[in-house]
Amino acid sequence: MLRHKKTWKKNTRGIIKDVGLCKYCDKMIVSDEAFVIFATKEAAHYSCMKKDEEDKRLEQETFKR
Ligand SMILES: [Zn+2]
Repeated sequence: MLRHKKTWKKNTRGIIKDVGLCKYCDKMIVSDEAFVIFATKEAAHYSCMKKDEEDKRLEQETFKR
């Protein structure tokens, strides 16, 4: 017999809000993650932004060669 037990936990770390969709990976950002808001009001994960910056830098470096 299947037991349907409610196992979902309530967030005890405070209220987690959706910030918006990440402009890089298109996934929802929640407020307990590191994120950035651009001047254009676009939101992005901090890690995605970092990665994008690194990618751009790599591109520039490759162009130089
Ligand atoms: Zn992201």
